[in-house]
Amino acid sequence: MEKRYLLAPGPTPVSPRALLNMAEPIIHHRGPEFSNILSEIREGLKYLFQTKNEVLIFSSTGTGAMEGAVTNMLSKGDKALVVNGGKFGERWGDICKAYGVETVLIDVTWGEAADPNIIKKTLDSDSSIKAVLTQACETSTGVGHPIKEIADIVKDKENTILIVDAISAMGAIDLPVDKWKLDVVVAGSQKAMMLPPGIAFASVSDKAWRFAEDSNLPKYYFNFKKELNSINKNQTAYTSAVSLLIGLAESLKQIKSEGLENIYKRHERLAKATRAAIKGLGLQLYAPKSPSNAITAILAPNGINGSDVVKVMREKYKVTIAGGQSQAKGKIFRIAHMGYIDQFDIITAISALEMTLNELGYHVELGKGAKTALEVLNG
Ligand SMILES: *Cc1c(COP(=O)(O)O)cnc(C)c1O
Repeated sequence: MEKRYLLAPGPTPVSPRALLNMAEPIIHHRGPEFSNILSEIREGLKYLFQTKNEVLIFSSTGTGAMEGAVTNMLSKGDKALVVNGGKFGERWGDICKAYGVETVLIDVTWGEAADPNIIKKTLDSDSSIKAVLTQACETSTGVGHPIKEIADIVKDKENTILIVDAISAMGAIDLPVDKWKLDVVVAGSQKAMMLPPGIAFASVSDKAWRFAEDSNLPKYYFNFKKELNSINKNQTAYTSAVSLLIGLAESLKQIKSEGLENIYKRHERLAKATRAAIKGLGLQLYAPKSPSNAITAILAPNGINGSDVVKVMREKYKVTIAGGQSQAKGKIFRIAHMGYIDQFDIITAISALEMTLNELGYHVELGKGAKTALEVLNG
């Protein structure tokens, strides 16, 4: 028998109800039945993003919406500040470069969070910076960046907007888009939104729409204004990802019924239990000072390659977690607890980790991490 467990930072598990709904026969994306579904989805997305503005929908992975955020908000030769503290911060820089946007990189040591004071100083000393690009959760390092503090700095700057990659954070971490004045927030389907990969989202503030008016970068599929026009008519500009959106309607329904506050509490509780278990096993967190509640990154113990931990867990115990990327490759492994994940998924992952560490020659007392996690969960 092969029973598998998925605790990777995307794709993540999908609820049985959403899977069943997505298996329904295809309906046409321009008919009234589908428009009604999109109308429901619009309301659900506004609830999740905590915004009164429309949330745009694209048939792509999250990176497509990241690219769209750059091409719709900025112009050739513009300057953008990029929080560069991991693989996905690097991606913001790469997209800017691809489109001729000049970047001011704020280098952040991997495993640490951005310092809002440095961002403030940089913006104060250079008023030509048009956008600040950051992650809410830098998935590659397990860090949560201080979005509210950064937003407080950017919101008073007439000529600067804040663009947040919340691809792993949306649905896991509280990001009140309107209250905090987050200008563009990008999300993806396959992380805490509990769906298969293939759709991406972007919310756009009134301030950001003014930037869109001036933007002259090339764009065609990822055209925010065009999608706004369509979504206002309960349509997408091009063929809707019908099955995925039917799944989305279901996952948004589940999000509404659990309630945002409970969802964030659940993620916090799972994150706390995971961190406690890791410490209980004598291991160290990769981002001890500002860990995100969406994912826990763990330093591989001395003499053990993090990639081997991932490999044994997957091959022998059928538990899929993630390794490190780029400079963290081999040094860390990452357990995601975002989306359709509950307390017993965590116990499973920690138990498999204990067996794996023993197998790799790092002795841990079986059940010690799981017990620590259970105590937190039961507390
Ligand atoms: C997963 C992830 C991405 C990449 O998303 P794709 O859907 O693979 O394009 C970007 N940023 C963050 C923070 C992520 O977690």
